[in-house]
Amino acid sequence: MIKIHDLTFTPFIDKSQIDSAISKMAEKIQKDYAGKTPVFLGVLNGAFPFVAALTQKISGNCEVEFTKLRSYAGTQTTQQVQELIGVNNLKGRDVIVLEDIVDTGHTLTKIINILENQEVSSYKIATLFYKPEAYHQNHSLDYIGIEIPNKFIVGFGLDYDGLGRNLPEVYQLIETQHD
Ligand code: 5GP
Repeated sequence: MIKIHDLTFTPFIDKSQIDSAISKMAEKIQKDYAGKTPVFLGVLNGAFPFVAALTQKISGNCEVEFTKLRSYAGTQTTQQVQELIGVNNLKGRDVIVLEDIVDTGHTLTKIINILENQEVSSYKIATLFYKPEAYHQNHSLDYIGIEIPNKFIVGFGLDYDGLGRNLPEVYQLIETQHD
């Protein structure tokens, strides 16, 4: 168990499960993009360890870019997604978006909107974690690492109020009963 501020988290997904999910995804991506030079577009802040781990398993040519979006306040997602760092050089490129987690999908909708405005040649969506019970958008997810229940997690890039991103494993929030 770990404590971050007022909340308690329990171990949920260990390093070897994360590593194996990323390896499988890298293998599929490598096959799908054989002979191409895709641009991996990491979504900051949460995707930084995922981007590093995945791209190191790709042996063909690729480029890496980042965009920074923000939609969470504490443990709650919001519908307002702000673009804090943008990208503007993706025209005509084959883009693979790398998301830490897809929850409601609002962030994804914003990214897709940005990519369509930039006239990319193609785009696919890869996410390390996915909460199918929370997702209510139509866009299909092309590469999914690990499906999880609709509970708040931290670690491997994911934070609670800025803390926990450095944890190499993933922890799940223990919900306490309020009277
Ligand atoms: P969405 O827009 O799909 O609701 O949420 C996407 C973003 O919300 C993610 O990129 C991530 O930053 C944050 N998020 C969603 N679920 C969780 C979670 O369980 N834990 C943490 N730490 N962040 C989450």
